[in-house]
Amino acid sequence: MIHLKDVHKTYPGAVPLHVLKGINLDIERGELVSIMGASGSGKSTLLNILGILDNYDSGEYVLDKRLIRNLGENAAADLRNHLIGFVFQSFNLISYKDAVENVALPLFYQGVSRRKRNAMAIEQLDRMGLREWAHHLPSELSGGQKQRVAIARALITNPAIILADEPTGALDSKTSVEVMKIFRQLNNEGMTTVIVTHDPGVGAQTNRIIRISDGLIIPDSQIVKSQTDMDNKKTDNVSVQHS
Ligand code: ATP
Ligand code: MG
Repeated sequence: MIHLKDVHKTYPGAVPLHVLKGINLDIERGELVSIMGASGSGKSTLLNILGILDNYDSGEYVLDKRLIRNLGENAAADLRNHLIGFVFQSFNLISYKDAVENVALPLFYQGVSRRKRNAMAIEQLDRMGLREWAHHLPSELSGGQKQRVAIARALITNPAIILADEPTGALDSKTSVEVMKIFRQLNNEGMTTVIVTHDPGVGAQTNRIIRISDGLIIPDSQIVKSQTDMDNKKTDNVSVQHS
């Protein structure tokens, strides 16, 4: 579903910042993965590239058999609209539009009639358990409800993949668990899901944790190796105690 090969990204500026330093990554259809790493390691930069919100400089990104490279703004927006659902830490809902209008917005850009997009939005809100909140403004909703509206909006175009950048970052731990339940449910229904998170509890609820450090993916073998080293040390300690 997602294939990245030696992807580099530098932010230009007085001091150019080489943020992604050769990312190799494969995510299969139907996976539920998290991306974890220190602040500034390049997680959002990577997710924005995956979501065709930003370009990369060199390497290769293939999404759903399409090479994503040097797309113009219109082509990028078109692919984004059809393939990708994005969820953000700060929900990014439009404050003066109610839940239905927020959820229906991507369909407006696809030229779907008002009547049809409202019906589809109500259906998505219903799926998120928010039917009775359909005509409330974001300011009248709790954090968890706002995030469920944002997830409904991400799903409305029936995307191939959901990308979420710190979707529980603004939520308390109980609400985080509720939102993660929704992602797990969607994944059970077959949705490919990628979640950037700082929260090890969130990472633990995904089926694979991808670790990024200073613009590079840490190979699983190294994670396993350091775990094995720790296990060996534990064993050493035990044997010391025994002797
Ligand atoms: P956090 O966990 O804090 O969200 P992150 O892993 O998501 O961090 P990124 O947002 O990808 O990190 O940023 C990686 C580096 O790139 C940081 O040093 C950041 O300051 C820099 N950066 C991010 N966006 C831009 C931009 N648009 N222009 C210039 N530099 C940027
Ligand atoms: Mg980030």
